[in-house]
Amino acid sequence: MKLKDKTAIITGAASGMGKAMALRFAQEGAHVVAADLNEEGLQKVVEEITNEGGTATPVKVNVANQSDIDNMVDTAVKEYGTLDILVNNAGIMDGMEPAGEITDEKWDKVFEINTKGVMRATRKALPIFLEKESGVIINTASTGGSNGAHAGATYTASKHAVVGFTKNTGWMYADKGIRCNAIAPGAVETNISSSMQGASEAGLKRAGMTHGLTPRTGSADEIAKVAVFLASDESSFVNGTVITADAGWTSAF
Ligand code: NAD
Repeated sequence: MKLKDKTAIITGAASGMGKAMALRFAQEGAHVVAADLNEEGLQKVVEEITNEGGTATPVKVNVANQSDIDNMVDTAVKEYGTLDILVNNAGIMDGMEPAGEITDEKWDKVFEINTKGVMRATRKALPIFLEKESGVIINTASTGGSNGAHAGATYTASKHAVVGFTKNTGWMYADKGIRCNAIAPGAVETNISSSMQGASEAGLKRAGMTHGLTPRTGSADEIAKVAVFLASDESSFVNGTVITADAGWTSAF
């Protein structure tokens, strides 16, 4: 077991990649704090984990809300005594809008969740990691975090910011036993499209040009396996970087 007795928070754990990570982390021996807005989905994940003999606690959280984030981290410490791994995975799409079609409302909503949520949870977890001089942070970025052609301008900017935040955090705490890395998934079969409220015709057309070049889509579990690697000591020398998992999509440009 690669994560035996480690305590791991995973945000966005009710669906898609976060759910797959929660299941895999529990199979690897971690105590999982499964965090999401979707309480019904969380109950199902926790049930699945406990039925398999694993340990998990559900926590309802809106990652755009600091008091929810505080409660999420405090719950991990209360239930399991500490925190070892923080996976900032919750995220939403924009509507593929190019810059000229962005509304302030959607920009703020996407950034609150995709970017500020990552910062807030990291900031809250750091004192625990600093005290024990050990901790792992994994952020789910996107190929849209290094590439300009996969989504709308808002999502693209929000994930580029996550990549920058990941690199900075990896560097700033590299001498404190803390590692911070990101995963950049390509196109993965999840429920992410249900987070799209309205879609730009022009944006869909332009982004769609590159979507057609994806060698294939991935499964959520293929991303969860990368997360297990980054969470475990097998990646002890990997810090401040991004692992792309996209079947080679971005190697084309
Ligand atoms: P998903 O929609 O299946 O899962 C996302 C989960 O996040 C959902 O359970 C949702 O309830 C939760 N969530 C949304 N807003 C939240 C909030 N404010 N607070 C707490 N939880 C919230 O999608 P997914 O594809 O598994 O997405 C996971 C991450 O992967 C996201 O950050 C997404 O941007 C990123 N990503 C997805 C793809 C893809 O192709 N699916 C590609 C690259 C990156």
